[in-house]
Amino acid sequence: MRFESTRKEGSVDLDTALLSGLAPDGGLYVPTSLPQYPLSAFEGADDLLDIAEVYLQPFFEGSRLATSLPEIVAETFHFPIPLLSLANETGCPVSVLELFHGPTAAFKDVGAGFLAACLTRLDDAAADRPLTILVAPSGDTGGAVASAFHRRDGVRVVVLFPKGKVSPRQQHQLTCWGDNIVAAAVEGTFDDCQRMVKAAFVDPVLRREYRFSSANSINIGRLIPQSVYYAAASLSHFRQTGKALSFIVPTGNLGNGLAAVLARACGLPIDDITFVSNANRTVPDYFASGEYQPRDSIETLASAMDVGAPSNLERLRHLFGERDALLQRSLSAETVNDDAIRAQIARDAERFEFAWCPHSATAMHVWDHLDANHKAKPQAVVATAHPAKFETIVEPIIGRSVEIPGSLQRLLALPSEFATIPPELDALASVLQG
Ligand SMILES: *Cc1c(COP(=O)(O)O)cnc(C)c1O
Repeated sequence: MRFESTRKEGSVDLDTALLSGLAPDGGLYVPTSLPQYPLSAFEGADDLLDIAEVYLQPFFEGSRLATSLPEIVAETFHFPIPLLSLANETGCPVSVLELFHGPTAAFKDVGAGFLAACLTRLDDAAADRPLTILVAPSGDTGGAVASAFHRRDGVRVVVLFPKGKVSPRQQHQLTCWGDNIVAAAVEGTFDDCQRMVKAAFVDPVLRREYRFSSANSINIGRLIPQSVYYAAASLSHFRQTGKALSFIVPTGNLGNGLAAVLARACGLPIDDITFVSNANRTVPDYFASGEYQPRDSIETLASAMDVGAPSNLERLRHLFGERDALLQRSLSAETVNDDAIRAQIARDAERFEFAWCPHSATAMHVWDHLDANHKAKPQAVVATAHPAKFETIVEPIIGRSVEIPGSLQRLLALPSEFATIPPELDALASVLQG
């Protein structure tokens, strides 16, 4: 498969797209054409791994990684991604696609794991100098990237986070790894961390010494594998009921939502797709007005969705057209504010006896408010993270503690180690030196 930039003609292979992240013209890579799968293509493919292999194979045509696809799939999808029906237990006729059973309990584990599996196999120069992956992650990307690259040969990850500005549990997920993962707390803000990373990438002295790469969300390698769980969930639903499944997707940078759209465009049995933003309304406003107006992000309870300029909207428009064309494709976008998030978590803790994370709660809120026509369709709410990751928000709302899943418990039991540095490039340089 070939990939083109959203901004210019010409195309590259998968390997180049993965290694470069952003296209040289500043655009984002997208497939030049999408594969079409008849349902028969998945005959005999029953579990997540089998379906992943069938779905991903066309994307790897012409890639040096093609023969490694089974291993890449096994390393990426090493945890369950269940589609649960709430109907039997609760009488509430909705399904939940649980994306939070990976090592850091959020769906970012899928994209980070896939990217790590691919990049470490593509990196010829590994023997000479390690690849240094520099990240100043927002939301829960950092832990997922650290986990995915932990103990991989020829790669080192340096994670910067703003001191005192992430929750203790989040901080632990960035600082518990050791080995080839180095964490530093910056005496500054999240923006300072981002600025330092950008400065290091363009610093001539540091660039001579280190081979830098990033694992940020614009890399096509984060997007492609996310379509796999939509393929698997929709197939399993279709096989059981003969009906296409609709998805309601909590949205920030729109990577997860776009992955659902891609799976549907490739022929998977998916009906409506609803993007749900928090109070950062760029996507719903674009759907309402047809005008794209990026803006600064505002802080909400669903912090991993605090994105004011969602980069994957550029991919969506490039692939499928502008607003009117998007609306014709059964796409829609909603916004849910913090009061509604709180109310939803509180109400469902009683109704279902489980807690949503603040992000997943936005999607359930939208399902609760669907009109009768849309509620009559089988719908799946996409649960993007485990509530135990956001215990400082969730526990006061529900008035009790949230049980911590085993994977997270194991991480929290590890010792934590990090340097504390001032917000300056020199300080980052000495962390890099080790
Ligand atoms: C990243 C994230 C989101 C938003 O996903 P996008 O792909 O950026 O739209 C939603 N929920 C959680 C828990 C996340 O970590």
